Amino acid sequence: LLATGAALGCLPRMARAGACSEDSGASIRVLLGRGMANRMDDCSFSFGTRTYRGTFASTADGEIVNTIPLEEYLYGVVPMEVPHSWPQATLQSQAILSRTFALARTNPARYYDVVASQGDQAYGGLDAEHPETSAAVSATGGQVLTFDGDQATVAYMSCCGGHTESAAEAWIGGSSAPYLRGVVCAYCADAPDFQWQRDIPLGSARNAFSDLWSIANEDLRSVQIMSADPSGRARTIRFSSSAGGFEVSGREFRRRLGAVAVRSLLIHSIQVDAAAASLTIEGSGRGHGVGLCQWGARALGAAGHRVPDILNFYFPGTALRNG
Ligand SMILES: [Zn+2]
Repeated sequence: LLATGAALGCLPRMARAGACSEDSGASIRVLLGRGMANRMDDCSFSFGTRTYRGTFASTADGEIVNTIPLEEYLYGVVPMEVPHSWPQATLQSQAILSRTFALARTNPARYYDVVASQGDQAYGGLDAEHPETSAAVSATGGQVLTFDGDQATVAYMSCCGGHTESAAEAWIGGSSAPYLRGVVCAYCADAPDFQWQRDIPLGSARNAFSDLWSIANEDLRSVQIMSADPSGRARTIRFSSSAGGFEVSGREFRRRLGAVAVRSLLIHSIQVDAAAASLTIEGSGRGHGVGLCQWGARALGAAGHRVPDILNFYFPGTALRNG
């Protein structure tokens, strides 16, 4: 029953006598990157190996910017953010958040609104689309999350590890809004990263902290979490030797060692293995932890919870508004 990408892309438009952009309200400009783009028909083009809806323009630098109705952009975003096989209520919750996020990024002072990567939201164009995720976008058409009548600031991540994070803790200048303060989430234990362990070679860690690190490898005694925030995420981490040591913030620890190795800051232990010349880090969850926990929303959707309940659980006190 899966429609092919090309057929899915143009069918709705052909039904409207070939007009490509008069069907939807807001449009969004997506920076795809540098490369060759070629028009395929009135409503799609190729860029690299992928096909996209909408039109494109090239900048003087050779960057390709895709202009596309917001709702059609979301068709190519939601399946990149959550598997299309997940419960429809989960897909719809994601669609509302992706729409709310994209609208907040709209910026007339710039030549694009969003980038087509995790920096904003992953966007796979027509090739990424699935009927289930497109149905979730359509079913929630125009809906955004609000707080006190204003559009809410939203975020989401793969797995919170048991407690979502407050935006103010996660980000310098992060919002202290009451709906972004973090909640206990008992629903994401099925996530592959609910519990994780990673080994980091001491040499890599030394390189990452070369400006601070004056400890000989064999002299490193411990790496300890000195303080944690209310969600349990590491605030301060200390590298200790017999002669001294140094401290870094949790945020800096993850930034320097990388988000792949340090999957979240909900770190339970960091063991120094002198014989193996490595650090073994154990933790829970994946991502910054702020906002909706996608794996938790999957379980809530599977248990029959409705979209407003799922969003209200992760963003307490918020409401939905039709666009
Ligand atoms: Zn969770």
